[in-house]
Amino acid sequence: MINAYTADDENRLSDVERDLVERRIRVLGPSYRLFYEHPVHVVRGEGVWLYGPNGECYLDVYNNVAVAGHCHPHIVAAIARQAAILNTHTRYLTEGVIDYAERLITKFPPPISQLMFACTGSEANDLAVRVARAHTGGSGLIVTETAYHGVTQAIAELSPSLGRHVEIGAHVRTVPAPRTSGDVGRAFADGVSAALEDMRRASVKPAALLVDTVFASDGVFAHPPGFLGEAVERVRAAGAVFIADEVQAGFARLGDAFFGFERHGLTPDLVTMGKPMGAGHPLSALAGKPEVLEKFGHMSRYFNTFGGNPVSCAAGMAVLDVIEGEDLMGNARRVGVLLKNALLELAARYGAIADVRGVGLFIGAEMENERIAARIVNGLRERRILISATGPGANILKIRPPLVFSEANLDQFISALGAELAVL
Ligand code: PMP
Repeated sequence: MINAYTADDENRLSDVERDLVERRIRVLGPSYRLFYEHPVHVVRGEGVWLYGPNGECYLDVYNNVAVAGHCHPHIVAAIARQAAILNTHTRYLTEGVIDYAERLITKFPPPISQLMFACTGSEANDLAVRVARAHTGGSGLIVTETAYHGVTQAIAELSPSLGRHVEIGAHVRTVPAPRTSGDVGRAFADGVSAALEDMRRASVKPAALLVDTVFASDGVFAHPPGFLGEAVERVRAAGAVFIADEVQAGFARLGDAFFGFERHGLTPDLVTMGKPMGAGHPLSALAGKPEVLEKFGHMSRYFNTFGGNPVSCAAGMAVLDVIEGEDLMGNARRVGVLLKNALLELAARYGAIADVRGVGLFIGAEMENERIAARIVNGLRERRILISATGPGANILKIRPPLVFSEANLDQFISALGAELAVL
């Protein structure tokens, strides 16, 4: 992680920050990473703002989980209300889980009509893989070269972005990320065909193609809409299913669609979702066509202690209320267009920006190299604006604010980014 705190950054820290960093390393061990050379200490959030212990206020241009803005009062109240009434699990008859599932399923094209709940995106993907394998009788899985799908053993094996020390599963094949020019769909599909052919030679029966429909960890690829269609056709012709990972793209962020797969004119066989679904409350799900879920349901019971509990469902319901009631998809579309145009203008002035990609409020700005991206990310942090970087070369600025991001927020972000580019 290019923009992470390292021991060399010690001298930037206040006494309180140094104490927290030391305690953290002591008790949480070596696996955790902090963002930024100068880590950000936050104690409170509201809307697009995060606040430090002394009232410092940071513009959040990064956190997609807080889809409705930090601590949205309607969502907070829904969680508190349900927590005070009942919190249990899905082995009793409770109405909330059914109400919520019925409402959420209306966001999908009709053949997708059933939902199973979990708590994290990783769990939803893990379940999707089990379901796909049960349905197809295959084991082979195709993901992109810098994919990230989560943390369980099975899913870490499908997440090459975790680095070369994390092994890719024996039945996993990787394909190049989408291109940015030429016949994007054909090129991506050819990668998928090569993976299918490799499986055939190794006597591995394919089970699924699993992709993040905005390709966030690969570097953000959203155009042209529809480019995934050909690859999905080839996967289905080989007897496998298509799993759309909507953990990043889903819940209105892309502005022109509630889920990323819609932009590709596709009906996936399975869809996983998480992150913004509970706006910070741990809530995730797998949605699917009944015939795809059928076999797994007969082979195995499914019980997830916390998945679909009444408080989580109240949170999920309130998130939908806010996305719809405040037209956050419309805001993502409107402000997203302005954001992309503003970045393209900066790209025309400063050669350091090599490309601007994405849609709605999910934008990747490709910088010339990792060093420049790290300088921008850390420079903006000093200006109290939070973004990050992604992609195989860690050189793509990841710009992904809460969907309540306004034009005024955009102006603040763009003028700070312009100032950073000017001093490069
Ligand atoms: N899929 C994608 C595309 C993700 O970006 C992530 C998280 N970054 C996950 C799955 C895993 O979600 P979680 O961290 O909730 O397990």
